[in-house]
Formats: sequence, C-alpha cells, structure tokens
Amino acid sequence: MTAVGRRRAVVCGAGIAGLTTAWWLERAGWDVVVVERAPRPRSAGYMIDFFGPGFAVADRMGLVPALRERAASIAEVQYLDPAGRRRGSADYGAFRRAVDGRLLSLPRGDLADVLLEAARDRAETRWATTVDGVSEGTDHLDVHLSDGTTRTADLLVGADGLHSRVRELVVAPGARALRSLGYQTAAFVLDDDGLRRRVGARMVLVADPDRQVAVYPMRDGLLAAWLVHRTSGPLPDDPRAAVRSHYRGLGSGVGRVLSHLTAETDLYYDDVAQTEVEHWVRGRTVLVGDAACAPSLMAGQGASMAMAGAWALVGQVRRRPDDLATALRRYERTVRPFAEERQASGRRTARWLVPSSRWGIRARQGFLALAGLPGSGPLVRRAFGTEADTTLPG
Ligand SMILES: Cc1cc2nc3c(=O)[nH]c(=O)nc-3n(C[C@H](O)[C@H](O)[C@H](O)COP(=O)(O)OP(=O)(O)OC[C@H]3O[C@@H](n4cnc5c(N)ncnc54)[C@H](O)[C@@H]3O)c2cc1C
Repeated sequence: MTAVGRRRAVVCGAGIAGLTTAWWLERAGWDVVVVERAPRPRSAGYMIDFFGPGFAVADRMGLVPALRERAASIAEVQYLDPAGRRRGSADYGAFRRAVDGRLLSLPRGDLADVLLEAARDRAETRWATTVDGVSEGTDHLDVHLSDGTTRTADLLVGADGLHSRVRELVVAPGARALRSLGYQTAAFVLDDDGLRRRVGARMVLVADPDRQVAVYPMRDGLLAAWLVHRTSGPLPDDPRAAVRSHYRGLGSGVGRVLSHLTAETDLYYDDVAQTEVEHWVRGRTVLVGDAACAPSLMAGQGASMAMAGAWALVGQVRRRPDDLATALRRYERTVRPFAEERQASGRRTARWLVPSSRWGIRARQGFLALAGLPGSGPLVRRAFGTEADTTLPG
C-alpha cells in the first residue's frame, strides 16, 4: 500500500472497461487516476446493442435510466437486396421482449459518456495522456506517463482496448495478441434528413455476399452507418478510399450513405479481431475489457463483457484487499472461461452475420423473421446468447 494509506490505481483507457473499473474501485476506497490517449471524449462511434451481464452491472451502478434516455427506439430490422427490394424484416421488439426489456440500442460513445459522467467526481481523468513505461518495485509500481509525470500505484489496469499499449508494454510484450476473423469494419455518423425519413424507426440492412451495410436511426435525428466486409488483406493506408471501393455498387441507397463520407468525417475503421493472450495479469498489472478478451463485434457483447469484467475484477480486489496477487489471479480464472465461450460463439456466428452466399443471406433473414412469431422467445434467447449471459462472472 502506498504511503498515505489509501490504495492507488492507474487505469489506462477512459473507455467502457476503464470507466467502469474506476467507478467501482473508487467505491471500494481506492484513489484512481484514469489516463486516456484521446484529447477529449471520443465521439458517438457506432451503434451497439447493450444487453446481458453488462446491463446488470449498469443496473447496479444506477445508470439504466440515463442509458435509456440515450437509446434509439428501433421497431424493426428491414432487409433490402442491392436492387432495393424488401427481402424480409424482423420485429426488433421481439428481441427486447425476449430479454425482458433489458436491451438498449445506443452509440458506444453515449455509453462511455454516461460512464464518464458517473465517474467524473470519483476519479481524476487525464486526457491526451498515456502510459509510457512501468517500473515494478517490491510493494508498488511507478507508472511513467507521457506528460512526463510518474504515478506511484498499487495497481495498473490496462483498459486501453483492442490494440492495448499496457498489454504490449507489460503483460505480453512481443506476443501476437490479436486473432483476425477475416473481416474489416467501418462506422460513421451522418446527417441526412431525407434518408432519415425513409429509414424511420427501422434498422435497414443491405446485404450482398461478403459485404453489408446497416443504417440505424439515432436518437438525435442522425443516422449511424455500420459497414462490414470479408477480406484477408492488411488494414488499408487510406480507410476512406477502402470504404468507397469495397461498398461501391451495393445499391439500395448505399451510394447516398457513402456520399456523406468526407475527409472531415470521424470514421471508425478496424480489423474484426479477438484478443488472445496467455495471461491477463503480470505482477500488479492487469488487463480488462477488449485489452484482455475482445470477443469482436461478431459476438456482439464486447461492451457488455467489458463492464462485467471490470465489475468482477474490482469484486475480487475488494474481497482480498491485502492479497492483490490472489485477487488478480482469481479475476482471470473466473472471467476467462466466460470470455472464451463468447469468443467461440463469435467465431461460430461470423458466417451467419456476414453470409458469403445469397442462400446464406436468405437463411438468416428467414430465421430472424421467425423471431417475431408467438412462442419464439426461447429460440431468440438462445440465438442472442443471453440465456446464460445475464449471470455476472465473479
Ligand atoms: C462496429 C462495432 C459494433 C459493436 N457492437 C457491439 C454490440 O452490439 N454490443 C456490444 O456489447 N459490443 C459491441 N462492440 C464491441 C464494443 O464496442 C467493445 O468491445 C467495447 O467498446 C470494449 O470496451 P473497452 O473499454 O475494453 O475498449 P474501448 O471501448 O475501445 O475503450 C478503450 C479506450 O482506451 C483508449 N486508449 C487506447 N489506447 C490507449 C493508450 N495507449 N493510452 C491511453 N488510452 C488508450 C481509447 O481511446 C478508448 O477510450 C462493437 C464493436 C464494433 C467495432
């Protein structure tokens, strides 16, 4: 423990896992500083379906009402073929009902915003700052920050996402920690009143084999576009050009969506990948969220898992205040099987979510159309992977 008596933690990354960890650590009596590479809170990003164990953690933090205020109201998922023909639809309300209403569609940035608001008074946040190095003493760590200062801490939490620096610096230097699933994904927000009127309260999805574009209505009158395509290539040097070229000719209004992608657009672009590292813990440093165990968007529960992992981590630390080594080991032992099961499910469902043939696209639409029928609840729950997943690990 550090000189003044209260334990101290440095959390790297003011994302979903980092802010949740900071919130719970502060409640457990820790002094927390969060360092975030971005100069300010990240923008809306992309839409997520938020349900499962993370929803239960948000509930315990008293955040569900604030999250509901940010959620979009989506009534239906509508499928269009490239010619613009309606090929089917699914009742989104059926998904919501299957999980007793504990499902929200909202931008990732809004979830982070609500967490930041809740953690603001509990933890110091330093923007435009990262961890440059760590020296581990016998009973503490010295965490060297990019602003030239050094923080003495009992614990360093790497919550810095898929391409984690803390993982590379401390926990798994030189390891190939990411397993690519063979897809790349992009997302951006657009402002187009005409398109918004056409979309209404629907999530509209246009699919071709190996590539698809979805457009979601957002709460504030904007639209969120999410694009995914199959590729084995490296990340492009120019993601905007890559998006234009991969989705060219997809039809059904996709050209209009792409016309909003300009040099000023805040574009998210990345590999669809999962994290696989041998250990999540090294000494007093621990990984949480995507840094430890990203399931990828194919599993659709990364944000939820990030919050559940953070909650489980602090639960273990709280239970064993004088034995951090055991607490961190137990955290990894409890959460890892749960996370690996989600990752395996993400790999299984990838081909289903982004079909490679027209037959696959029709099969998926047929299945999802069933979701609206009476008595389909258990089927939907199984497909959504939520039956076991509302249980919190830890
Ligand atoms: C297109 C898409 C759709 C998705 N859909 C869903 C969904 O429907 N449901 C769901 O639950 N999940 C979904 N996910 C996954 C989810 O967004 C992530 O799993 C989740 O955000 C992980 O949280 P995290 O806190 O670990 O990482 P992040 O949210 O990525 O946060 C990491 C933070 O660390 C910061 N950072 C990075 N490097 C450094 C550094 N060196 N120093 C300091 N700070 C740093 C970043 O700026 C960021 O603020 C989706 C992901 C994508 C890409």
